[in-house]
Amino acid sequence: MTEAEQEAISRAWSDLVAIARRTVSDGLVVGTSGNVSLRVPTGTGDIVLATPTGVHYDRLTAADAVGVRLDGRQVLGELTPTSELPMHLAIHRTTDAVAVVHTHAVHATAVSTLVDELPPIHYMAAALGGPVRVAPYALYGTDELAAGLLRALEGRTGALLRNHGTVTCGASLEQAFDRTAQLEWMCRLWLAARSVPGHTPALLSEPQLREAADKLRGYGRHR
Ligand code: 13P
Ligand code: ZN
Repeated sequence: MTEAEQEAISRAWSDLVAIARRTVSDGLVVGTSGNVSLRVPTGTGDIVLATPTGVHYDRLTAADAVGVRLDGRQVLGELTPTSELPMHLAIHRTTDAVAVVHTHAVHATAVSTLVDELPPIHYMAAALGGPVRVAPYALYGTDELAAGLLRALEGRTGALLRNHGTVTCGASLEQAFDRTAQLEWMCRLWLAARSVPGHTPALLSEPQLREAADKLRGYGRHR
């Protein structure tokens, strides 16, 4: 690896650790739950940086960087990568996502036990590609979970894992993280609205979601 590539990897690792720590400080996971990955190009092929399994994120230092190739071969670090590597690599192999964030956010996980798809209660569903699907339950860390997740993610940038949590991806760590936060917020909103006795939440139609998706493409642009 060139010096410039090594520097890029170090910077990427410190960004990844910062986002992993945010999942804890924002209450999206507790303890060592959840995991984050980030794809970094190098001259000899892409490296996927990933949080190590079972390590508190506040203990991670610059020396702890963990990296694997797309086939799962570890090329960086001593710590063992996340147990959810099959899930992360499945996304990195089949999409152009740069970053993937997995959490056990409480409202999203509650919703994953109730429905097969988060009802489109807010236009921010469009920011995740449409109504967010729930992938079938499978044991954590398995290829079966990864395969179910890939199906649930079709045309979406986020999905729920039944009785488990959330997965979102994006073109950057910030985008993947923001999508998790929006997904958790929408799940909380739906749970709040549906718990009012005698009332059923109004939902958005497909054309309304499409219209929101179109408008969101220009959202936040400044002259
Ligand atoms: P890891 O500590 O192996 O990343 O596992 C946490 C988790 O959320 C498994 O689904
Ligand atoms: Zn998990």
